[in-house]
Amino acid sequence: MKKKSIQLISHGQFEDSFIETIAEDVAREYNAEVTSEECHADLNDFYAPTRRQYDANKLIRFLEEQSETKALKIICLCQVDLFIPILTYIFGQAVYKGKTAIASIYRLKNEPYGMKSDDDLVLDRFRKVVIHELGHTFGLVHCQVPSCVMRSSTYVEDLDQKKIHLCNHCRSLISLPA
Ligand SMILES: [Zn+2]
Ligand SMILES: [Zn+2]
Repeated sequence: MKKKSIQLISHGQFEDSFIETIAEDVAREYNAEVTSEECHADLNDFYAPTRRQYDANKLIRFLEEQSETKALKIICLCQVDLFIPILTYIFGQAVYKGKTAIASIYRLKNEPYGMKSDDDLVLDRFRKVVIHELGHTFGLVHCQVPSCVMRSSTYVEDLDQKKIHLCNHCRSLISLPA
């Protein structure tokens, strides 16, 4: 059976090992072939000066139009502060049952909350955001199981309390042909 293919598109300076870890997570969690590439698009077009943040929905639309990939899903990994109009900030955003998602590490760092920086913790949180947003592209909705990665997360503490994995129920829903 041909595997699903998922492409990671990194924007900004990420360590190779960071991207590799995420690629392994995605491959395992979605039984997918994962490729990664860097994107050098100028994000200024998506900057909203009044909010000093970047418009996640515009960015997703741009990615959908730009991408010539044959991959089933794409997720952009970035470092800027993302928003959607109804929320103060977001960790990530996805097109439900769509092709495209986005995740940012900007809000995952400890420093803005007055705590010591912790790269491992940031990576751990980011991995969960990526798996979560891709879950939406596969048609998963928010899950009530406390440990499930599809549980909704508003604060970093919410991310820290859940695991990186899909619960069995969520997993059964995406094992259908995509
Ligand atoms: Zn969600
Ligand atoms: Zn679940």
